[in-house]
Amino acid sequence: MKSITFLKKIKAKKIFVQFPEGLKIEIQSISKYLEDKGFDVILSCESTYGACDIRDDEAKRLKCDAILHIGHSDFGVKSKIPVVYWEYFYDIDPIPVLKKEYKKISKYNKIGLITNVQFIKSLKSVKEFLKTKEKKIFTNKSLNYSGQILGCNIDAAKKIENKVDCFLYIGSGNFYALGLDLKINKPIFILDLEKKVIRQLDSKKLKQKIEWNKSFFKEAKKIGILVSWKKGQIRDFWKLKKKLKDKEVYILAFDEITPEKLEGLKLDFLINCACPRIGIDDISRYKIPIVNYNDLNDV
Ligand code: SF4
Repeated sequence: MKSITFLKKIKAKKIFVQFPEGLKIEIQSISKYLEDKGFDVILSCESTYGACDIRDDEAKRLKCDAILHIGHSDFGVKSKIPVVYWEYFYDIDPIPVLKKEYKKISKYNKIGLITNVQFIKSLKSVKEFLKTKEKKIFTNKSLNYSGQILGCNIDAAKKIENKVDCFLYIGSGNFYALGLDLKINKPIFILDLEKKVIRQLDSKKLKQKIEWNKSFFKEAKKIGILVSWKKGQIRDFWKLKKKLKDKEVYILAFDEITPEKLEGLKLDFLINCACPRIGIDDISRYKIPIVNYNDLNDV
């Protein structure tokens, strides 16, 4: 495997392993496998949601030689020690589900294909199948793989939006497709390989909630700017603070941002400058209106 070869090449012995929650069930076998290959393994039990979260300081403190980041692909976050990405592709044949559910998308002729890194292999088979149905297929390479998006980067879809009649997201769950549906004005279908269905996503309620939250901004007096020190989530929040000179502003820094950590603070409004999914997936968990900085047009 490429990542093992690379770890050996850089002579890493002690490795700090970061992995997403979804891989917890397999992480002990992975750890044993790595030990069999000659590595000393430390499993990071803090949440790792993406390649924005590189725990190089923690890994160095524990005297590790490298980080093995499982389930994510490199998007250029700088680190003090080598980071090796093991993307962890799933090898799932999507064709039986696609054949069974095909009629749900059959009326669309120009289809944009999108996925996250784990399902890249399935995207290739879907493309071939739809071509046999004489569909025009569009993909774009904005990250490491054609059709790949992140929870915070949907450029691969944005760049082909005007060419397609609909998008088909290949994977499971709503997370990635939801990010698309909020920013793209075309029908979004999910080829859900876990539930074995094709379903259309509708984010109308969420869009209403985002608009509702925004409406509190003008009247808000005490504002909390939420920032994270995760390496790939740091942005210039001082500029934002300057723009808000008529408000009472607090910069609140976290590793992981959760509503519970805000309890006890007197605030009327929250502007999220960290992972943009906080103002989407977690929006209903916050008692105070929260809006992602990029969605706040009035500032
Ligand atoms: S910023 Fe958020 S969506 Fe983007 S990679 Fe990190 S955790 Fe995922």
